[in-house]
Formats: sequence, structure tokens, C-alpha cells
Amino acid sequence: MEELRHKVVEIAARASRAGLMPGTMGNFSARDSETGYVAITPSGYSYDVMKSQDVVVFNAEGKMLDGDRKPSFESPMHLRIYRDRPDINGVVHAHSPYSNAMGLLRREIPPVLLTLAHFIGGNVPIADYEPSGTEDIGAHALEVMGDRPAVILEKHGVLTIASSLDLAYEIAAAVEDGARVYHLALQIARPKDVLKEIPQGKGRA
Ligand SMILES: [Zn+2]
Repeated sequence: MEELRHKVVEIAARASRAGLMPGTMGNFSARDSETGYVAITPSGYSYDVMKSQDVVVFNAEGKMLDGDRKPSFESPMHLRIYRDRPDINGVVHAHSPYSNAMGLLRREIPPVLLTLAHFIGGNVPIADYEPSGTEDIGAHALEVMGDRPAVILEKHGVLTIASSLDLAYEIAAAVEDGARVYHLALQIARPKDVLKEIPQGKGRA
């Protein structure tokens, strides 16, 4: 359980330093595939000072087991994803600015970079706006993602899922990097030729 909590703190701090969300926004979780325990970041707490014991642990049935703080407001979304997808052991939810801008414009992020193409295998889809704090937002996000590991939640943020929290973080970082570069390219022209040349879902990151 300690290892799981430590991983959540490490990745949340890394995402915060990378500018994937302002302030205390966003939330991160990891599941231990053996016990089914899920560790989730606490609500509204600074990533700079977060320690393992601040991370809240739920059991496989979604009952809170341990933690000094209130769990993230968006815990129901995380728990729903783990319930519906036994292959997933890491969930990242960030409020990444460039990805959010694309969501506001309802513009899916195309695989403009090799890393993004490798991770996503196509456009990053956009889920219609819905209020956060419910498990329905997780169910809807999974529906929109299909077999892709990322989705933009309109007027809200980005959600990525993977077999580990490390990988979910890498995907979230790649999505934001892709959105940023796409935005820069769009200042000059629409980079459609680039899209054709990247083999989707293949290549090295
Ligand atoms: Zn959020």
C-alpha cells in the first residue's frame, strides 16, 4: 500500500512541475492489481507538500480504507474506471491548458507527433461537457475513448488511462505536448500533410 501511495505522490508532483495543471487541480490514482486497492490524491491539497499518508486508499469495493485527508472530489470517476476496466491500473486527470483549449474549440487533437501517434493511434477524442464529481463522467469518458487511452473532457481537462500510472502520465504529457505543438503549427497553417506521414499507432515514442 505504501508503494502505491508513494507512486501517486511522485507522479502527481511530476505532473504539477510539468505544468499539466494549475494549483491543486487534477487528480491521480493507481491500483494494485493483486489486492485491488486504489490510491487516490486528496482533495484540494498542494502537490508540493503532498506525502504518502495524504493519499487516500480505497478497497476493491470502493470503500475508503485509509488516509489522513478527504479523497479527491473526482474519486467516483476514478473508481468507476477501475471497476469497468480490469486492465487499467493508472488514471491521470489533469487540467492541461493546450489540451483544454482544443476541447473548448471541439477540435480533436490529431496525431501530429510521433509520440502522440504511438500512444493514441489516432485523434484524441472529446467527451461532451458534464458536471464533475460523479461516476457517470468516468463511464461516459470510457465510452468516448473506446480503445484509445485518452480523452479531453470538454471545458474541464484531460483523462488518460493505462496499465500503470507511469504510463498514464506519459500519455497525458504526450497529449499536452501534441496539443501545444498543434496549436503552434496552426498559427501558420493547418498541418495536414504531417498527419498523413505518421503511421498511426506505430513507431517509437
Ligand atoms: Zn478536474
